[in-house]
Amino acid sequence: MIAKKEVITVQNYILDATRRFFRERDFLEIQSPIISSVTDPGLRGAEIASIDYYGERMKVTSSMIFHKQLAASVYGKVFSISPNVRLESKERRETKKHLSEFRQIEVEVAFSSYRDVMKIAEDLFREIIKNVGKKIKLREFNMDFKEYSYKEIVSKYGIEYGEEIPCDMEKEVSEDCFVWITEYPYGSRGFYDKTDEKNPEFLRDFDLIYPDGFGEASSGGEREYEYEKVRKKIIDLGLDPEDFRDYLDILRSGKIKPTAGFGIGLERLTRFICGLESVEEATLFPKVPGVISF
Ligand code: AMP
Ligand code: MG
Repeated sequence: MIAKKEVITVQNYILDATRRFFRERDFLEIQSPIISSVTDPGLRGAEIASIDYYGERMKVTSSMIFHKQLAASVYGKVFSISPNVRLESKERRETKKHLSEFRQIEVEVAFSSYRDVMKIAEDLFREIIKNVGKKIKLREFNMDFKEYSYKEIVSKYGIEYGEEIPCDMEKEVSEDCFVWITEYPYGSRGFYDKTDEKNPEFLRDFDLIYPDGFGEASSGGEREYEYEKVRKKIIDLGLDPEDFRDYLDILRSGKIKPTAGFGIGLERLTRFICGLESVEEATLFPKVPGVISF
């Protein structure tokens, strides 16, 4: 059993290493909005929270995707340690990976490909583990990264083509090293993941799975940025363009450039590095799905 103070200290070291990593590479650290007229709808079944805002509704940010797209378009390379709220179902508690409030290390780079940002993510994970390991004794980590395409994964594990990898399958997909799953099929992810122009059946995106059954570490990819394409995809996926009006207006103005990026859940990363049973142990004030708490 590792003491709570030690867990939070490890989290401090993770954040120190993350900030140093990005500062050395000329990324700008930005602060995330907590409320917004538009937020990420691609939540694998979780619901978006909203608040009464002067008699109207404002969403509580579920990820920083749209804001970091804009920020990277203006500033080139950005990162953020951003808070997210997602109303996960009560059953999700059993996964030991889901909180209703968590933080992400969010990264976005202008004029970059999904391959470029996968390389950044690998370097970042290696650097974090190395630097935390200098401060506190950790178990041995295998820092190799294997890659499978989504197509290879579904045929290897008999998963139905067209869906994201179900949360309860992440353990099976996991190996003794990090595993990339690349190029999800169109329709399986948020509308903002970029469709490959030559082969529109797949998206230029990825997930990263932790070793040894610790689940999904990160998701990311290249982003759609052209107004007409995004609007069409929103409709294709059965969403209402009116819910994304402010974002669509920004796209139409041409302010958003091609970008790519990823997000890493901070509590899951802390859980992985400390080898904790549940993500609930990786934060001081866990918000467990369905449980009212301080
Ligand atoms: P997503 O946008 O759903 O791919 O989430 C990005 C990253 O945030 C995931 O790869 C996880 O590391 C983390 N994450 C997502 N949902 C949760 C959750 N409910 N609780 C804790 N971490 C999460
Ligand atoms: Mg994901």
